Amino acid sequence: MRTADNRLADYTTLRLGGPARDFVRATTEEELIAAVKLADKAGQPVLILGGGSNLVVADDGFDGTVIQIATKGVSAGREPGEVTVAAGEDWDAVVAWTIAEGLAGLECLSGIPGLAGATPIQNVGAYGQEVSQTVTSVRTYDRLTGKTSIMPNEACGFAYRTSVFKRDNERRHVVLAVTFTLAAAALSMPVGYAELAAALGVQIGDQVASTTVRSAVLELRRRKGMVIDADDPDTRSAGSFFVNPVLDAAEMTAVEAAARARCGEGTRVPRFDAGDGLFKVPAAWLIERAGFGQGYSLGDGARISSKHTLALVNPGSASTAGLIALARQVRDGVREAFGVSLTPEPVLVGVTL
Ligand SMILES: Cc1cc2nc3c(=O)[nH]c(=O)nc-3n(C[C@H](O)[C@H](O)[C@H](O)COP(=O)(O)OP(=O)(O)OC[C@H]3O[C@@H](n4cnc5c(N)ncnc54)[C@H](O)[C@@H]3O)c2cc1C
Repeated sequence: MRTADNRLADYTTLRLGGPARDFVRATTEEELIAAVKLADKAGQPVLILGGGSNLVVADDGFDGTVIQIATKGVSAGREPGEVTVAAGEDWDAVVAWTIAEGLAGLECLSGIPGLAGATPIQNVGAYGQEVSQTVTSVRTYDRLTGKTSIMPNEACGFAYRTSVFKRDNERRHVVLAVTFTLAAAALSMPVGYAELAAALGVQIGDQVASTTVRSAVLELRRRKGMVIDADDPDTRSAGSFFVNPVLDAAEMTAVEAAARARCGEGTRVPRFDAGDGLFKVPAAWLIERAGFGQGYSLGDGARISSKHTLALVNPGSASTAGLIALARQVRDGVREAFGVSLTPEPVLVGVTL
Protein backbone atom coordinates (compact mmCIF):
# COMPACT_ATOMS: atom_id res chain seq x y z
CA MET A 1 0.00 0.00 0.00
CA ARG A 2 1.41 3.40 -0.95
CA THR A 3 0.66 6.30 1.40
CA ALA A 4 1.13 10.03 1.05
CA ASP A 5 2.41 10.29 4.60
CA ASN A 6 6.14 10.23 4.03
CA ARG A 7 7.90 12.55 6.50
CA LEU A 8 10.55 10.31 8.01
CA ALA A 9 10.67 12.30 11.25
CA ASP A 10 7.34 10.64 12.00
CA TYR A 11 9.00 7.21 11.81
CA THR A 12 12.28 7.70 13.70
CA THR A 13 12.77 7.72 17.46
CA LEU A 14 14.94 10.83 17.05
CA ARG A 15 11.92 12.50 15.39
CA LEU A 16 14.28 13.72 12.66
CA GLY A 17 14.39 13.19 8.90
CA GLY A 18 12.88 14.81 5.82
CA PRO A 19 10.49 13.23 3.31
CA ALA A 20 10.86 10.03 1.32
CA ARG A 21 10.21 10.13 -2.41
CA ASP A 22 8.05 7.00 -2.07
CA PHE A 23 6.80 5.28 1.04
CA VAL A 24 5.45 1.74 1.07
CA ARG A 25 4.11 -0.11 4.10
CA ALA A 26 4.45 -3.88 3.67
CA THR A 27 2.16 -5.97 5.85
CA THR A 28 2.93 -9.33 4.24
CA GLU A 29 6.13 -10.95 3.02
CA GLU A 30 4.70 -10.97 -0.50
CA GLU A 31 4.10 -7.20 -0.37
CA LEU A 32 7.56 -6.65 1.07
CA ILE A 33 9.37 -8.68 -1.58
CA ALA A 34 7.24 -7.18 -4.37
CA ALA A 35 8.02 -3.63 -3.17
CA VAL A 36 11.75 -4.32 -3.01
CA LYS A 37 11.70 -5.98 -6.47
CA LEU A 38 9.78 -3.07 -7.97
CA ALA A 39 12.15 -0.45 -6.57
CA ASP A 40 15.22 -2.47 -7.59
CA LYS A 41 13.86 -2.90 -11.12
CA ALA A 42 13.28 0.84 -11.37
CA GLY A 43 16.81 1.50 -10.09
CA GLN A 44 15.44 3.38 -7.09
CA PRO A 45 17.44 3.49 -3.86
CA VAL A 46 15.72 1.48 -1.11
CA LEU A 47 15.63 2.15 2.62
CA ILE A 48 14.18 -0.65 4.73
CA LEU A 49 12.50 0.89 7.76
CA GLY A 50 11.87 -0.95 10.99
CA GLY A 51 11.08 0.99 14.14
CA GLY A 52 13.43 3.80 13.11
CA SER A 53 15.32 3.53 16.40
CA ASN A 54 18.77 3.19 14.90
CA LEU A 55 18.43 5.67 12.05
CA VAL A 56 19.69 9.20 11.55
CA VAL A 57 18.01 10.54 8.41
CA ALA A 58 19.05 13.74 6.62
CA ASP A 59 16.86 16.84 6.85
CA ASP A 60 16.53 16.53 3.05
CA GLY A 61 15.00 13.08 3.52
CA PHE A 62 15.54 10.05 1.32
CA ASP A 63 15.39 10.28 -2.47
CA GLY A 64 14.12 6.76 -3.03
CA THR A 65 11.64 4.21 -1.77
CA VAL A 66 11.25 3.69 1.94
CA ILE A 67 9.74 0.28 2.69
CA GLN A 68 8.31 0.01 6.17
CA ILE A 69 8.24 -3.52 7.57
CA ALA A 70 4.88 -4.38 9.10
CA THR A 71 4.82 -8.18 8.79
CA LYS A 72 3.53 -10.18 11.75
CA GLY A 73 3.81 -13.69 13.12
CA VAL A 74 5.48 -15.70 15.87
CA SER A 75 5.64 -19.48 15.63
CA ALA A 76 7.21 -22.31 17.59
CA GLY A 77 9.63 -24.53 15.67
CA ARG A 78 10.25 -28.27 15.66
CA GLU A 79 13.17 -28.15 18.08
CA PRO A 80 12.51 -27.37 21.77
CA GLY A 81 12.86 -23.65 22.46
CA GLU A 82 12.87 -22.78 18.76
CA VAL A 83 10.88 -19.66 17.90
CA THR A 84 10.57 -17.93 14.54
CA VAL A 85 9.58 -14.28 14.53
CA ALA A 86 8.47 -12.19 11.55
CA ALA A 87 10.64 -9.13 10.89
CA GLY A 88 7.83 -6.69 11.70
CA GLU A 89 7.12 -7.92 15.22
CA ASP A 90 7.80 -5.43 18.01
CA TRP A 91 11.03 -6.56 19.66
CA ASP A 92 10.18 -5.88 23.28
CA ALA A 93 6.83 -7.64 22.92
CA VAL A 94 8.71 -10.67 21.58
CA VAL A 95 11.05 -10.62 24.59
CA ALA A 96 8.11 -10.37 27.00
CA TRP A 97 6.32 -13.21 25.19
CA THR A 98 9.33 -15.55 25.37
CA ILE A 99 9.65 -14.94 29.11
CA ALA A 100 5.93 -15.61 29.60
CA GLU A 101 6.39 -18.87 27.67
CA GLY A 102 9.16 -19.95 30.06
CA LEU A 103 11.97 -19.41 27.54
CA ALA A 104 15.30 -17.87 28.55
CA GLY A 105 17.98 -16.15 26.50
CA LEU A 106 16.48 -12.78 25.55
CA GLU A 107 15.60 -11.40 29.01
CA CYS A 108 18.54 -8.96 29.16
CA LEU A 109 17.43 -7.50 25.82
CA SER A 110 14.21 -6.17 27.36
CA GLY A 111 13.29 -2.59 26.54
CA ILE A 112 15.30 -2.26 23.33
CA PRO A 113 13.08 -0.42 20.85
CA GLY A 114 12.52 -1.41 17.25
CA LEU A 115 11.46 -4.52 15.40
CA ALA A 116 12.64 -8.12 15.52
CA GLY A 117 13.95 -8.06 11.94
CA ALA A 118 16.48 -5.37 12.79
CA THR A 119 18.00 -7.22 15.73
CA PRO A 120 20.48 -9.25 13.63
CA ILE A 121 21.53 -6.14 11.69
CA GLN A 122 23.73 -4.73 14.43
CA ASN A 123 23.60 -7.85 16.64
CA VAL A 124 21.71 -5.95 19.34
CA GLY A 125 23.03 -6.41 22.78
CA ALA A 126 22.68 -5.19 26.33
CA TYR A 127 23.54 -6.24 29.87
CA GLY A 128 25.66 -9.19 28.80
CA GLN A 129 23.44 -10.70 26.08
CA GLU A 130 23.57 -10.34 22.29
CA VAL A 131 21.12 -11.84 19.80
CA SER A 132 24.04 -13.70 18.17
CA GLN A 133 24.00 -16.01 21.22
CA THR A 134 20.48 -17.25 20.44
CA VAL A 135 19.87 -16.63 16.71
CA THR A 136 19.82 -19.97 14.88
CA SER A 137 19.15 -18.56 11.43
CA VAL A 138 17.92 -15.50 9.56
CA ARG A 139 15.61 -15.83 6.57
CA THR A 140 16.21 -13.12 4.02
CA TYR A 141 15.21 -11.91 0.60
CA ASP A 142 18.46 -11.67 -1.32
CA ARG A 143 18.29 -8.64 -3.63
CA LEU A 144 21.23 -9.94 -5.68
CA THR A 145 19.74 -13.33 -6.59
CA GLY A 146 16.07 -12.35 -6.26
CA LYS A 147 15.50 -15.41 -4.04
CA THR A 148 14.82 -16.04 -0.38
CA SER A 149 17.56 -17.76 1.60
CA ILE A 150 18.11 -19.08 5.09
CA MET A 151 21.36 -17.88 6.59
CA PRO A 152 22.57 -19.95 9.55
CA ASN A 153 24.14 -18.11 12.49
CA GLU A 154 27.69 -18.78 11.22
CA ALA A 155 26.91 -17.04 7.92
CA CYS A 156 25.71 -13.85 9.63
CA GLY A 157 29.21 -12.63 10.57
CA PHE A 158 28.07 -11.48 13.99
CA ALA A 159 30.47 -9.39 16.03
CA TYR A 160 30.14 -6.55 18.53
CA ARG A 161 27.31 -4.31 17.20
CA THR A 162 27.70 -5.56 13.65
CA SER A 163 27.02 -8.38 11.19
CA VAL A 164 27.25 -9.07 7.47
CA PHE A 165 23.95 -7.22 7.14
CA LYS A 166 25.31 -4.00 8.64
CA ARG A 167 28.74 -4.20 6.98
CA ASP A 168 27.16 -4.67 3.54
CA ASN A 169 26.78 -1.17 2.15
CA GLU A 170 24.71 -2.47 -0.74
CA ARG A 171 22.09 -3.72 1.74
CA ARG A 172 21.80 -7.00 -0.15
CA HIS A 173 19.66 -8.83 2.40
CA VAL A 174 16.17 -7.90 3.55
CA VAL A 175 15.45 -9.76 6.78
CA LEU A 176 12.09 -11.55 6.57
CA ALA A 177 12.19 -13.56 9.79
CA VAL A 178 14.56 -14.54 12.57
CA THR A 179 14.73 -17.94 14.29
CA PHE A 180 15.97 -18.09 17.87
CA THR A 181 16.72 -21.17 19.96
CA LEU A 182 16.05 -20.42 23.61
CA ALA A 183 16.44 -22.43 26.80
CA ALA A 184 13.22 -23.90 28.17
CA ALA A 185 13.71 -22.53 31.69
CA ALA A 186 11.96 -20.10 34.01
CA LEU A 187 15.37 -19.05 35.31
CA SER A 188 17.38 -16.57 33.31
CA MET A 189 20.66 -17.38 31.61
CA PRO A 190 23.58 -16.81 34.03
CA VAL A 191 23.84 -13.08 34.79
CA GLY A 192 26.98 -11.84 33.05
CA TYR A 193 27.02 -8.10 33.62
CA ALA A 194 28.26 -6.51 36.84
CA GLU A 195 25.80 -3.59 36.89
CA LEU A 196 22.85 -5.96 36.44
CA ALA A 197 24.17 -8.41 39.04
CA ALA A 198 24.48 -5.52 41.52
CA ALA A 199 20.94 -4.34 40.77
CA LEU A 200 19.66 -7.89 41.35
CA GLY A 201 21.80 -8.39 44.45
CA VAL A 202 23.37 -11.55 42.98
CA GLN A 203 26.82 -12.69 41.84
CA ILE A 204 27.98 -12.90 38.24
CA GLY A 205 27.00 -16.35 36.97
CA ASP A 206 23.91 -16.63 39.17
CA GLN A 207 20.51 -17.38 37.64
CA VAL A 208 17.29 -15.77 38.81
CA ALA A 209 13.71 -15.68 37.52
CA SER A 210 13.67 -14.23 33.99
CA THR A 211 10.78 -11.96 34.98
CA THR A 212 12.99 -10.49 37.73
CA VAL A 213 15.81 -9.92 35.26
CA ARG A 214 13.41 -8.22 32.85
CA SER A 215 12.12 -5.86 35.57
CA ALA A 216 15.66 -5.00 36.70
CA VAL A 217 16.85 -4.36 33.14
CA LEU A 218 13.85 -2.12 32.40
CA GLU A 219 14.47 -0.15 35.58
CA LEU A 220 18.18 0.32 34.81
CA ARG A 221 17.34 1.36 31.26
CA ARG A 222 14.65 3.82 32.34
CA ARG A 223 17.10 5.59 34.61
CA LYS A 224 19.37 6.09 31.61
CA GLY A 225 16.59 7.26 29.29
CA MET A 226 16.95 4.04 27.32
CA VAL A 227 13.28 3.05 27.27
CA ILE A 228 11.18 5.11 24.87
CA ASP A 229 8.84 7.38 26.82
CA ALA A 230 6.84 10.07 25.03
CA ASP A 231 7.03 12.22 28.18
CA ASP A 232 10.80 11.97 28.50
CA PRO A 233 12.74 14.07 25.93
CA ASP A 234 15.93 12.20 26.87
CA THR A 235 14.50 9.16 25.10
CA ARG A 236 14.25 10.97 21.75
CA SER A 237 17.49 9.41 20.59
CA ALA A 238 18.88 6.60 18.50
CA GLY A 239 20.22 4.92 21.66
CA SER A 240 23.99 4.98 22.03
CA PHE A 241 25.35 7.29 19.36
CA PHE A 242 28.88 5.86 19.41
CA VAL A 243 30.16 2.31 19.60
CA ASN A 244 32.49 1.56 22.51
CA PRO A 245 35.98 1.52 20.95
CA VAL A 246 37.90 -1.76 21.01
CA LEU A 247 41.63 -1.12 21.47
CA ASP A 248 44.77 -3.25 21.28
CA ALA A 249 47.42 -3.17 24.02
CA ALA A 250 49.47 -0.38 22.40
CA GLU A 251 46.40 1.81 21.87
CA MET A 252 45.31 1.13 25.44
CA THR A 253 48.72 2.25 26.78
CA ALA A 254 48.49 5.45 24.74
CA VAL A 255 44.96 6.18 26.05
CA GLU A 256 46.11 5.58 29.62
CA ALA A 257 49.01 8.02 29.18
CA ALA A 258 46.67 10.63 27.69
CA ALA A 259 44.17 10.08 30.53
CA ARG A 260 46.85 10.51 33.21
CA ALA A 261 48.11 13.68 31.56
CA ARG A 262 44.60 15.06 31.29
CA CYS A 263 42.84 13.84 34.41
CA GLY A 264 45.64 13.25 36.95
CA GLU A 265 48.28 10.61 37.71
CA GLY A 266 45.94 8.24 39.56
CA THR A 267 43.49 7.99 36.67
CA ARG A 268 42.57 4.47 35.53
CA VAL A 269 40.73 4.09 32.24
CA PRO A 270 37.84 1.61 32.67
CA ARG A 271 37.94 -1.34 30.29
CA PHE A 272 36.39 -4.72 29.60
CA ASP A 273 38.29 -7.69 28.28
CA ALA A 274 37.23 -8.12 24.63
CA GLY A 275 39.34 -11.27 24.04
CA ASP A 276 42.37 -11.70 21.76
CA GLY A 277 44.33 -9.16 23.80
CA LEU A 278 41.79 -6.43 23.04
CA PHE A 279 40.01 -4.07 25.44
CA LYS A 280 36.61 -2.43 25.13
CA VAL A 281 36.60 1.07 26.62
CA PRO A 282 33.33 2.84 27.51
CA ALA A 283 32.90 5.64 24.98
CA ALA A 284 30.85 7.53 27.59
CA TRP A 285 33.89 7.73 29.90
CA LEU A 286 36.06 9.17 27.10
CA ILE A 287 33.35 11.65 26.06
CA GLU A 288 32.88 12.94 29.60
CA ARG A 289 36.64 13.24 30.25
CA ALA A 290 37.01 15.06 26.92
CA GLY A 291 34.73 17.75 28.33
CA PHE A 292 31.27 16.79 27.08
CA GLY A 293 29.04 16.18 30.06
CA GLN A 294 25.39 15.16 30.26
CA GLY A 295 23.14 17.89 28.87
CA TYR A 296 25.96 19.42 26.74
CA SER A 297 24.64 21.30 23.72
CA LEU A 298 25.89 23.46 20.87
CA GLY A 299 22.90 25.67 21.54
CA ASP A 300 20.74 24.79 18.55
CA GLY A 301 18.54 22.09 20.03
CA ALA A 302 20.48 18.84 19.81
CA ARG A 303 22.16 17.88 23.06
CA ILE A 304 23.71 15.05 24.99
CA SER A 305 21.09 13.26 27.07
CA SER A 306 20.87 14.48 30.65
CA LYS A 307 20.77 10.81 31.75
CA HIS A 308 23.33 9.10 29.54
CA THR A 309 26.44 10.62 27.97
CA LEU A 310 26.38 8.24 25.02
CA ALA A 311 22.96 9.29 23.73
CA LEU A 312 22.48 12.38 21.56
CA VAL A 313 18.92 13.61 21.74
CA ASN A 314 16.49 15.85 19.93
CA PRO A 315 14.46 17.38 22.75
CA GLY A 316 12.11 18.87 20.14
CA SER A 317 13.70 21.68 18.17
CA ALA A 318 16.81 20.02 16.73
CA SER A 319 17.62 19.29 13.09
CA THR A 320 19.65 16.40 11.75
CA ALA A 321 22.32 18.91 10.70
CA GLY A 322 22.52 20.18 14.29
CA LEU A 323 22.71 16.67 15.70
CA ILE A 324 25.50 15.74 13.29
CA ALA A 325 27.41 18.95 14.14
CA LEU A 326 27.23 17.98 17.81
CA ALA A 327 28.34 14.42 17.04
CA ARG A 328 31.31 15.76 15.04
CA GLN A 329 32.34 18.02 17.90
CA VAL A 330 32.19 15.13 20.37
CA ARG A 331 34.06 12.79 18.04
CA ASP A 332 36.79 15.38 17.32
CA GLY A 333 37.09 16.31 21.01
CA VAL A 334 37.63 12.68 22.02
CA ARG A 335 40.19 12.20 19.24
CA GLU A 336 42.07 15.30 20.35
CA ALA A 337 42.00 14.33 24.04
CA PHE A 338 42.72 10.60 23.76
CA GLY A 339 43.68 9.81 20.15
CA VAL A 340 40.64 7.51 19.85
CA SER A 341 38.34 7.73 16.80
CA LEU A 342 34.75 7.07 17.83
CA THR A 343 32.49 5.54 15.20
CA PRO A 344 28.74 6.08 15.10
CA GLU A 345 26.44 3.20 16.05
CA PRO A 346 23.25 4.27 14.20
CA VAL A 347 22.86 3.94 10.45
CA LEU A 348 23.31 7.36 8.82
CA VAL A 349 21.04 8.01 5.83
CA GLY A 350 22.01 10.91 3.55
CA VAL A 351 24.45 12.33 6.09
CA THR A 352 28.05 11.60 7.03
CA LEU A 353 29.96 12.22 10.21
C1 LIG B 1 16.25 4.53 23.50
C2 LIG B 1 17.04 3.53 22.68
C3 LIG B 1 17.74 2.52 23.31
C4 LIG B 1 18.47 1.58 22.56
N1 LIG B 1 19.14 0.59 23.22
C5 LIG B 1 19.86 -0.33 22.51
C6 LIG B 1 20.57 -1.35 23.18
O1 LIG B 1 20.55 -1.47 24.40
N2 LIG B 1 21.28 -2.23 22.43
C7 LIG B 1 21.32 -2.17 21.07
O2 LIG B 1 21.98 -3.00 20.44
N3 LIG B 1 20.64 -1.19 20.40
C8 LIG B 1 19.92 -0.28 21.09
N4 LIG B 1 19.24 0.72 20.43
C9 LIG B 1 19.31 0.79 18.95
C10 LIG B 1 18.10 0.16 18.23
O3 LIG B 1 16.98 0.08 19.05
C11 LIG B 1 18.40 -1.24 17.70
O4 LIG B 1 19.50 -1.21 16.83
C12 LIG B 1 17.20 -1.85 16.97
O5 LIG B 1 17.44 -3.20 16.67
C13 LIG B 1 16.83 -1.11 15.69
O6 LIG B 1 15.58 -1.63 15.28
P1 LIG B 1 14.63 -0.82 14.31
O7 LIG B 1 13.54 -1.75 13.92
O8 LIG B 1 14.21 0.44 14.95
O9 LIG B 1 15.59 -0.56 13.07
P2 LIG B 1 15.67 0.75 12.16
O10 LIG B 1 16.23 1.86 12.98
O11 LIG B 1 14.40 1.00 11.47
O12 LIG B 1 16.78 0.30 11.11
C14 LIG B 1 18.13 0.15 11.47
C15 LIG B 1 18.92 -0.43 10.29
O13 LIG B 1 18.48 -1.75 10.05
C16 LIG B 1 17.93 -1.86 8.73
N5 LIG B 1 16.80 -2.77 8.83
C17 LIG B 1 15.76 -2.70 9.71
N6 LIG B 1 14.94 -3.75 9.54
C18 LIG B 1 15.46 -4.48 8.53
C19 LIG B 1 15.08 -5.67 7.88
N7 LIG B 1 13.96 -6.35 8.22
N8 LIG B 1 15.84 -6.15 6.86
C20 LIG B 1 16.95 -5.49 6.49
N9 LIG B 1 17.38 -4.35 7.07
C21 LIG B 1 16.64 -3.86 8.08
C22 LIG B 1 17.55 -0.46 8.32
O14 LIG B 1 17.54 -0.31 6.92
C23 LIG B 1 18.66 0.33 8.98
O15 LIG B 1 19.85 0.24 8.20
C24 LIG B 1 18.50 1.68 21.15
C25 LIG B 1 17.79 2.71 20.52
C26 LIG B 1 17.06 3.63 21.27
C27 LIG B 1 16.31 4.72 20.58
